[in-house]
Amino acid sequence: MTAPFTLSDWTTKAAALTPDGRGLIDGQRVDALSGEVFASHSPMDGRQLAQIARMGDADVERAVQAARRSFDSGVWADRPPAERKRVLQNFALLIEQHGEELSLLETLDMGKMISDSVDIDLPAVVDCVSWFAESIDKVYDEVAPTAKDVVALVTREALGVVAAVVPWNFPMLMAMWKVAPALATGNSVVLKPAEQSSLTALRLADLALAAGLPPGVFNVVTGMGPEVGRALGLHMDVDGLFFTGSTRVGRIFSEHAAQSNLKKVGLELGGKSPNLILSSCHDVAHAARVSAEAAFFNQGEMCTCPSRLIVERSVRDEVVETLKAVAAEFIPGNPLDPNTTMGALVDETHAARVMGFVDTAHQDGARVIAGGERKSPVAGGSYVAPTIFDDVTNDMRIAQEEIFGPMLSVITVDDVSEAVRVANDTVYGLASAVWTDDLSVAHQVSKQIRAGLVYVNCYDCDDMTTPFGGFKQSGSGRDKSLHALDKYTELKTTWIQLSPGRAG
Ligand code: NAD
Repeated sequence: MTAPFTLSDWTTKAAALTPDGRGLIDGQRVDALSGEVFASHSPMDGRQLAQIARMGDADVERAVQAARRSFDSGVWADRPPAERKRVLQNFALLIEQHGEELSLLETLDMGKMISDSVDIDLPAVVDCVSWFAESIDKVYDEVAPTAKDVVALVTREALGVVAAVVPWNFPMLMAMWKVAPALATGNSVVLKPAEQSSLTALRLADLALAAGLPPGVFNVVTGMGPEVGRALGLHMDVDGLFFTGSTRVGRIFSEHAAQSNLKKVGLELGGKSPNLILSSCHDVAHAARVSAEAAFFNQGEMCTCPSRLIVERSVRDEVVETLKAVAAEFIPGNPLDPNTTMGALVDETHAARVMGFVDTAHQDGARVIAGGERKSPVAGGSYVAPTIFDDVTNDMRIAQEEIFGPMLSVITVDDVSEAVRVANDTVYGLASAVWTDDLSVAHQVSKQIRAGLVYVNCYDCDDMTTPFGGFKQSGSGRDKSLHALDKYTELKTTWIQLSPGRAG
């Protein structure tokens, strides 16, 4: 459903908000023990939204202790599954009821269009929490098929204290992809949102408390990655750390685990997704349209962004013409205007980094055929035009490095085998796509591509029932689906020797 409000309505509602930037530990909103704060600015127009608590080691210690106490007491983990399900169902309901406020905060904090916050992010978050709530009393443990004189029970047990460290591109959704299954399996959680986008995480934790989650079970520590993130990564009493973010920081968390208690680590990392439009695709214009829409969606701030468009030479001219036409429809504008077609990038630092790739492209011999420039539909905001690079070869930096902005590279190839070779010539392996009307080619190519997701004749299809995650340096472990539960649980095997002859 599209937001029923106008730009003027949203602007008035935004002006009335007074977000609380304090952390949430053991059921209480708290300042950092040091008293330090940092300002959170909106990339929409640079306005200050809130002062956020700049937490550090001592605050992380408090949060982990609160989580440990709540876990060890059994106040959540040992509660009957049907009751835990009801609490998480209440949580999902409260998120839905506060959808307007949460959507607005999300847009103000990280710049995505209000129409996306309302129509895409919010429903996905509600769906995620209610889906994992439902899993609580529907997933059974196992009795192994052993010999008759023994019984072997295979049961899942919560890890204990789980830390989740998440990025800013889908702040609520990335947080709930981890927090919901962690809570569903009985863990106590410490969430660290990205410093660019703390506000919705804090409100979600308020709502979880209001839904009946006991204090200490879901804590939020705000602050900088190298401070709060590091303290969680190195903490000896955190049993599992689950991260979504860049491959660079994922590597740091693996090192932290090795340097501390070998905590379990799950990594959902970056991507440089190949998108193959083959000559066996009959509706090339449709393929190109969907591809460009996927590349520019969420300002290109997508781990699955199909940023490498690999096209067979015989269809490339038609593809390029359509890409340019679609780019012209993505016009950076005020994110609070429901008619806007593209929002702001998360902040000035990121916008400048993304623009740096235009220079890189020129230096490496690529050609800018659309965009390549900053825009300023709202003064003080961080806007970048949708950009298309042509004449790209796969060894160029724009084809190898994750840009995480609205930038698409066109790589022309001579046949299917070259397309597959180029697709796999990357350290990443998150998403990919192939466009073809030849069933055999679709099967063969999707088997050959080394990626956790392959879309055939579509892009960004999504459902809570399917696992999400990457091969290679795009990470390990999976979010979403019942497979996500594996990350937050240990398997225990209990052997029971039966007394011979007792039952006659
Ligand atoms: P990032 O890695 O810079 O930050 C992610 C989180 O890590 C933030 O909370 C940040 O504060 C923290 N962090 C940063 N430096 C740290 C350090 N030195 N030690 C500990 N913690 C630290 O990523 P980002 O810029 O927020 O998000 C963009 C990245 O996220 C992209 O690479 C994107 O592909 C990836 N991403 C992946 C998925 C997925 O499911 N695979 C989904 C969304 C985003």
